[in-house]
Amino acid sequence: MAEEKTIFARIIDGEIPADIVHSDDHCIAFRDINPQAPVHILVIPRKPIASLFDATPEDRELLGHLMLVVRDLALKEGLDDGFRTVLNTGAGGGQEVFHLHFHLLGKRKLTWPPG
Ligand code: 5GP
Repeated sequence: MAEEKTIFARIIDGEIPADIVHSDDHCIAFRDINPQAPVHILVIPRKPIASLFDATPEDRELLGHLMLVVRDLALKEGLDDGFRTVLNTGAGGGQEVFHLHFHLLGKRKLTWPPG
């Protein structure tokens, strides 16, 4: 039986609406529905990689592309002062949606260590 589609796969396929801020052949980016900062964007590959655990050397270029999209979006959103990128991996890492995604957070003072 085919595995159930994640909510992010449904956003990629246009089945669920999202505030999409970037789209290209390899990834899309959209605003988080429950933002943890004034800017909170999710950057996800079109390829359904469940988590970083599931990434392979074949994904090297794709992962680099995602990071550069995060960078470009941060500058586009005016986060010149800095921003935070988060990649939660696995249940123990706080991951809830099992389609790999980078969080881009900014426009508030971000403290360390995170919770
Ligand atoms: P995770 O905990 O897996 O790293 O992050 C999942 C993120 O996806 C959460 O920040 C959550 O608010 C966001 N999210 C979950 N469902 C939806 C949705 O349907 N639309 C959007 N835009 N974001 C979602």
